[in-house]
Amino acid sequence: MNADVIIVGAGITGASIARELSRYKLKILLLEKEAEPAFGVSKSNSGIVHAGTQNPPSSLKGWLCVEGNRLIREEIAGDLGLDFSECGQLIVIFDPADLPELEKIKKEGEELGVKGLEIVDRGWLEANEPNLGPDIKAALLVPSAGILSPYRFVYAMVENAVKNGAGLRTSRKVSAIRKPAGGGFEVVAGGEVFRAKFLVNAAGLYADEISAMAGAPTFTITPRKGEEYLLDKKREHIVNRLVFPLPAKNSKGILIIKTSDGNPMIGPTAHEVRGKEDLSTSDEGLAEVLAGARRLVPSISKSDIISYFAGLRPVAGKDFIIRHEDTVPGLVNAAGIQSPGLTAAPAIAVMVAGILKKQGLNLERKEEFHRLRPRPVHLFQVSDEETRRLIVKNPAYGDIVCRCELVSAKEIREALKSGAVTLDGVKFRTRAQAGRCHGGFCTTRIMKIIQEELGLPVTAVSKRGPGSELIKDERKWPSDEHSS
Ligand SMILES: Cc1cc2nc3c(=O)[nH]c(=O)nc-3n(C[C@H](O)[C@H](O)[C@H](O)COP(=O)(O)OP(=O)(O)OC[C@H]3O[C@@H](n4cnc5c(N)ncnc54)[C@H](O)[C@@H]3O)c2cc1C
Repeated sequence: MNADVIIVGAGITGASIARELSRYKLKILLLEKEAEPAFGVSKSNSGIVHAGTQNPPSSLKGWLCVEGNRLIREEIAGDLGLDFSECGQLIVIFDPADLPELEKIKKEGEELGVKGLEIVDRGWLEANEPNLGPDIKAALLVPSAGILSPYRFVYAMVENAVKNGAGLRTSRKVSAIRKPAGGGFEVVAGGEVFRAKFLVNAAGLYADEISAMAGAPTFTITPRKGEEYLLDKKREHIVNRLVFPLPAKNSKGILIIKTSDGNPMIGPTAHEVRGKEDLSTSDEGLAEVLAGARRLVPSISKSDIISYFAGLRPVAGKDFIIRHEDTVPGLVNAAGIQSPGLTAAPAIAVMVAGILKKQGLNLERKEEFHRLRPRPVHLFQVSDEETRRLIVKNPAYGDIVCRCELVSAKEIREALKSGAVTLDGVKFRTRAQAGRCHGGFCTTRIMKIIQEELGLPVTAVSKRGPGSELIKDERKWPSDEHSS
């Protein structure tokens, strides 16, 4: 056996499971089809650490969300140096006749164990959220909701799992799964064969295909698209909390979202689509999001929007599917991880570890588990005084590469040392290229740093892995330019 457990998919679900299992004396292998972790659903979402409200008390996702929220707030955010902020949430109503609905959400939240819920009136809202629309009558205040950077959450989980001995193999698309006579699994990925006794399927949108490959075609994933629109940082303080309307049939509705990087966001839509790679945005989506957002905060205008993206929720019915497939001994599915999967992931990981133990995996704790991960430095998050101190210590902090987002050469080199191998990997870790100019000024400079740091020819430097290289002919690349 190469490993005790193979996990397919390095999104937040697989990354959290890898970190959880890395507490034990086990050989863990995380296989990811993309060039880097966090390139699936986990990069394209709202980044909200939901409190657990808006889920039925009987649902698995409801209680896993409440427990995931607790784990993030009380342990993981501090241990892994995440930029988590417990900003709180409001669920607003426009008609006093909807008050019973708000009371119901409060009661269901309390049944799930969500603390501090309180209904606040128009006077409270005027004092605390002055930009909200005049038609909003009351709201449910949910103090334990928060925000974090979704991709930096995944990177932190993966880095810490690897630090604790888990193996990570990227660009390894699982294409076949065999079940040898002696038990366990042979997993074919990227032309190699990996063996393990247990297989955990955390393949997001493709979890149905992986489960079928392993011999359990027990569910289908239907993508549900969400379009999101990012606003300029100058609108950072447009709201002080996350603002939600009453939930819609299939989603939590169009929200005003605070983000850990400062830019507020509006969205997401929720529409079922056919294609698992259909990340297009549309005029209709923009109109729907703008109308929904302006109902909550009328001063939002189209010209505030600087960027947009779409993500696909991997939906398999109403709830998560987290179970051992009894017809395929050793296969555990962590599938249908739609919202609030980002929040629930640490609790899903604990649940999966429990299922594996029940199936015979020996969970013996390591003598030493490296719980802590140093918080990466981001100049855009520190004071001028701290920036000066950093530059004195290391002048590369004063070498600003991305002017829009204030990202230094030092931060880019650190991102590459911690695992980034592509331009998107650098962007998600540091924010370089994420500002108003979308990398117009800094991309060539970042490419040169990638070349130097990873020892790659420029023709191998890509946006998000093989097939997305930017330069085809090395002779056209200005190699004599200053680059560090
Ligand atoms: C618009 C939107 C907004 C959302 N907002 C929130 C929110 O605010 N809060 C919240 O809690 N949740 C939110 N969610 C839900 C959350 O994003 C997901 O639940 C979560 O990211 C799912 O993570 P995952 O690891 O299961 O899937 P993924 O991140 O997709 O990871 C699966 C991984 O498996 C890999 N993979 C697939 N097939 C193979 C294969 N054959 N071989 C190897 N690897 C493979 C993929 O490349 C991918 O990296 C939102 C979702 C959307 C779409």
